[in-house]
Amino acid sequence: MIQRKLTKTITIGNRQVGGQAPILVQSMTKTNTCQIEETISQIKELEAAGCELVRVAVPNKDAARALAEIKKAIQIPLIADIHFDYRLGIMAIEHGADALRLNPGNIGSERSWEAVVVTARERNIPIRVGVNAGSIEKEFAHRDGTDTAEMMVESALKNIALLERLNFYELKLSLKASDPWTTIQAYRLIAQRVDYPLHIGVTEAGPLFSGLIKSSVALGILLAEGIGDTIRVSLSASPVKEVKAAYGILRALGLREKGIEIISCPTCSRCQIDVMTMAERIEEALGQAQTPLKVAIMGCEVNGPGEAREADIGIAGGRGGGLLFRHGQVIAKLSEDELYPALLSEIKKLTN
Ligand code: SF4
Repeated sequence: MIQRKLTKTITIGNRQVGGQAPILVQSMTKTNTCQIEETISQIKELEAAGCELVRVAVPNKDAARALAEIKKAIQIPLIADIHFDYRLGIMAIEHGADALRLNPGNIGSERSWEAVVVTARERNIPIRVGVNAGSIEKEFAHRDGTDTAEMMVESALKNIALLERLNFYELKLSLKASDPWTTIQAYRLIAQRVDYPLHIGVTEAGPLFSGLIKSSVALGILLAEGIGDTIRVSLSASPVKEVKAAYGILRALGLREKGIEIISCPTCSRCQIDVMTMAERIEEALGQAQTPLKVAIMGCEVNGPGEAREADIGIAGGRGGGLLFRHGQVIAKLSEDELYPALLSEIKKLTN
């Protein structure tokens, strides 16, 4: 069992973050925030996929104003991503943001933080101190003898101290690097020093395939050590894929159970049915399902019946077709053509 590091609880919109709350899945829109309809439609796709917190970039005043309309149309908490200009953070709060992410590497002087904190405190809005290895403050960057993870931690601690001096404690932290090892080190170090909730992720992880590998390695290690209260799998791909990937990582560690888990064999010369196509079709057709369900698709009688029996719904290939299992019992012997429709129909009976 993974022992989660106990962090402070903060509230973002209608969600609790940290403490005993589940580890929440976050993503970020990839639309132009000022294109309100497109942004709302992408957030609705994310909601349908199970996303629990969404961040949008606020690069200018029009984007900050757009938050008011966006907020009215969505259900999940809305986080405004602010860089360079603290005044956009204030505007974002005034236009309905449930939380802010500020980058200490570019947000400016103590006065900038102070100004945002006044509005954040008035409206009970938490702030994520989002340190990023690619935009670390000059005073910490390139210091001889200090590695990047340590510099990121120093930056986070300095800014936390500043916020605490302002009596502001509604904080979440992130220390992301594009390199998984630096990311792991930075989060391990900060987790020993503070008990604010941590948003974990590998930044700019890459396109789908390589990004998933980097994120899975880094987030898997951190989560297994009990570190992380919200997660984002950052990919150069559709944000819905980020959400699916995040649940995949959490499910693999037994930390969340949402959605369909497919157990399918790699196939070999014993394979009697088209496992690969069937597994891909099921993943495609049911990627949005929220009900926890284990589905096994197995090619032959070697491990097929065992895995299919253990799953909620399963198929084990045999000569000319296969056996369909539901909750450990064989419910039909089918030809290969009948297998996919029967499997899909059984899964749909058990999912929403
Ligand atoms: Fe090969 Fe059968 Fe194992 Fe699939 S279950 S990999 S077909 S031996």
